Amino acid sequence: MAETMRAQVFYEKEKMSLEEVAVPEIGADDVLVKVKDVGICGSDISYYFGMSPLGTDSGKGPMVLGHEFTGIVAKVGKIPATKGLFKEGDRVVVNPVQHCNACPACASGNTHTCQNLSVPGVTTDGGFAEYCVSNYTGLFKLPDNVSFQAGAMTEPLACAVNGMNKLDIEPGQFVTVIGPGAIGMMMVQIARAYGAGKVALVGTRDYRLEKGREYGADYLFNTKDEKSPYYAKDLKEALADVTHGRLAERVIVPAGPNEAFETGVEIAGETGIIVHFGLPDEGAVFKIPALSFHTMDKQIRSAWLAPMVWPQTIRMVEEGLVELESLVTHVRPLEETGQAIVDLRNRVDDPMKVEIEM
Ligand SMILES: [Zn+2]
Ligand SMILES: [Zn+2]
Repeated sequence: MAETMRAQVFYEKEKMSLEEVAVPEIGADDVLVKVKDVGICGSDISYYFGMSPLGTDSGKGPMVLGHEFTGIVAKVGKIPATKGLFKEGDRVVVNPVQHCNACPACASGNTHTCQNLSVPGVTTDGGFAEYCVSNYTGLFKLPDNVSFQAGAMTEPLACAVNGMNKLDIEPGQFVTVIGPGAIGMMMVQIARAYGAGKVALVGTRDYRLEKGREYGADYLFNTKDEKSPYYAKDLKEALADVTHGRLAERVIVPAGPNEAFETGVEIAGETGIIVHFGLPDEGAVFKIPALSFHTMDKQIRSAWLAPMVWPQTIRMVEEGLVELESLVTHVRPLEETGQAIVDLRNRVDDPMKVEIEM
């Protein structure tokens, strides 16, 4: 095996360089993964532009970003080898949120709030490199019929599945998704799989909304662009029209801005459940009309990360309940990682999901 590899080393705001570095050593409980495909996440954009600190002790680089990835097992540490869990050549996907399995949060099943999380691409070197180290407990085998490209979206899909589980959809219900990004497209498909009667997708860009129709959205609403054929000046009224006045029984908001969530609460009908999913800005505060919230008996839930849903998520892809490949609109080589992050932020050429492929 090679002793050096190419890696995109991130130093500070907008400073990342392709370097030849040593292939990382693995510990007894690690597995070395030869990376195949890595998705660029919104959080990679935040790190790259210095909007949020890294998860390292100093909050700074140098570190390799990238946490949504698939690959092939290149070396197996002593513990997983003894247990017969993985062997060289296995196709795998990494759950980057790697919990300690020893703290009270882990012991109670709330692994996503573990006090000792280790996250490749956030706290340790990640996937924008030819090789990456993962703890064996964060590794899952990729089913034969799932491509490396599709598999690299397992992490965001697992988060979407966790959010949709919290929505508690009952068969036939009217579900509204606010935020037609890649995660929104996954949520539309999950809503269908969970037996939603009708699904509405709400956003501000027609090219994204129309993509949602391909994944099973029945109604599209553009709340911003007056020239759009889907323009809804008053979203609540538009929803009342198509639900016989009942409004949305279930609402999930993958969009980040506060207003999107506040809209979500407003358009939920009586006894509706609203799941907050998109990451808010630091210091953001919700404003919700309290009386109608109370008398309409609505429920608000949050959905953070993806505790305990990885096996279910992988099965959903394997069984074709969620189609991921067509969400990848751009594939770039490792050399272009920095530019790919910049282009994604500037939405060059209408991107949905952008991946780096080795
Ligand atoms: Zn991510
Ligand atoms: Zn823990």
